[in-house]
Amino acid sequence: MLPERPRLSFDLDVDIAVVGAGLAGLTVALEAARMGASVAVLEGRHVGWNASGHQLGTVMPGFGLPLGDLIARVGFEDSRELWALSREGAEFVRANATEELIPGIAMSEGALEVSNVEAGDQLIARLQMLGEDFETEVEGWQVDRVRAELSTDHYFHGVYYPKAFQIDGRKYVHGLAALARRAGARIFEDTPVVSIDPSGIRKRIVTPSARLRASHIVLAGNIHLGAPLRRLSETLLPVWRYAAVTAPLGERLAETLAFRGSVTDSDGIDHFRVVQGDRLLWASPETTWPARPERFAPAIARRIETIFPRLGRVQISEAWGGAIGQTVHGMPQIGQLRKGLWVASGFGRQGLNTTAMAGQLIARSILWGDERWRLFSPFELVWAGGTTGRVAGYAIGMWARGSAAAAGALARYRERVRAKERIREVRLAEANRQAGTRGPQRRPPPGSPRPQPPANRESEGG
Ligand SMILES: Cc1cc2nc3c(=O)[nH]c(=O)nc-3n(C[C@H](O)[C@H](O)[C@H](O)COP(=O)(O)OP(=O)(O)OC[C@H]3O[C@@H](n4cnc5c(N)ncnc54)[C@H](O)[C@@H]3O)c2cc1C
Repeated sequence: MLPERPRLSFDLDVDIAVVGAGLAGLTVALEAARMGASVAVLEGRHVGWNASGHQLGTVMPGFGLPLGDLIARVGFEDSRELWALSREGAEFVRANATEELIPGIAMSEGALEVSNVEAGDQLIARLQMLGEDFETEVEGWQVDRVRAELSTDHYFHGVYYPKAFQIDGRKYVHGLAALARRAGARIFEDTPVVSIDPSGIRKRIVTPSARLRASHIVLAGNIHLGAPLRRLSETLLPVWRYAAVTAPLGERLAETLAFRGSVTDSDGIDHFRVVQGDRLLWASPETTWPARPERFAPAIARRIETIFPRLGRVQISEAWGGAIGQTVHGMPQIGQLRKGLWVASGFGRQGLNTTAMAGQLIARSILWGDERWRLFSPFELVWAGGTTGRVAGYAIGMWARGSAAAAGALARYRERVRAKERIREVRLAEANRQAGTRGPQRRPPPGSPRPQPPANRESEGG
């Protein structure tokens, strides 16, 4: 019997070719196949090989970029639209992550964002903004309430999102693949894309043992995209995030941690929740180079002991890691690089709702002419600094932990990066020109009519 997802070993013609079977690529494939397109997904290793198969399954609205920064960047109205899209992404996950569609997905409700510093005033402003302006259900928790649920003096106030939820992250990515296949998409594993010719109406893809032609190519390879468009990979800062699950902790866990949803801290350091009744699932350290995840098990155990000293010593059962792609501006890269060549990457730490949103936006643009992806046009492809940038990114990541001075350092770093960017953008434009691509297009000016669905699929884009 043939394996379910074989290597591509014969030439193929499809409407849409997707490079990468992570959350982003699989969501595009699922949506496009459901809309009736013929879709092939080419995955260099296997489904969920990188971050998508190693995430913690917390689904929140919004982006990795804090809301205040988003407003400063694109203004209030566009921020509201972007936020609404991010909520639609979360709803997409909710609609597909059901026990019926993905057995064993183990959905549970509610997530809590806790602050590491006394921030009562900011909390009220944040609640008002989220609740009133961004139509997101939230509750403010006073310090006492937070500490009644989480027995630690490390956290202060909290923002509770009753509509956020968590799922079994590994099951979800494999469930998406199964749903995409059921909808008619073909998924080929062990099939790295080695080159792309994006010119012409029918674009060409070369893999080690076959060629493929498609009207649209979606690049969803995250930091590993490599040879097909190296310049694109270089717009991402790879950050390896590590996670672990403890051995059963028995009664002491319930005594220390009553809250059963996901907890994230406002500095983006800790992210945890209780799983299987009495274990802790915990993500914490990050590096800008790959390392064996087991190396980080002691650090994660120590971090748990620091935050929850009542737990005493904890044993780690399993540790793992995955690389996330961080953009310089902190927002995902979603859009059309040139006619029929799409990008969906840079989802950072918050990839579940944002990859779902990207998948929907791209499939709907290709097949229905929905142009809302252009809201992401202000977030251009910015060079992430190669090796030097990675080292600088790491140093800044370390400083940022808990230090207000780091915010200034980061701002200054970004300033310097922006200055360099201007020079590099010229070079990148030249490289893109040579590779036959151009940067994401700008959004049409306000007041211009919404594009209509194209009469002919091939004729959209631009
Ligand atoms: C420890 C950890 C915990 C996390 N927890 C959460 C969480 O709780 N909630 C949340 O929202 N997000 C979380 N994230 C972030 C989330 O996992 C990522 O943002 C998301 O998985 C990115 O998905 P992706 O499809 O862009 O990338 P990837 O998962 O990296 O997928 C890209 C795929 O493309 C393939 N590929 C690349 N180049 C090629 C090529 N040339 N040819 C063929 N295939 C190629 C790769 O092999 C890979 O499988 C977490 C991440 C980590 C590491």
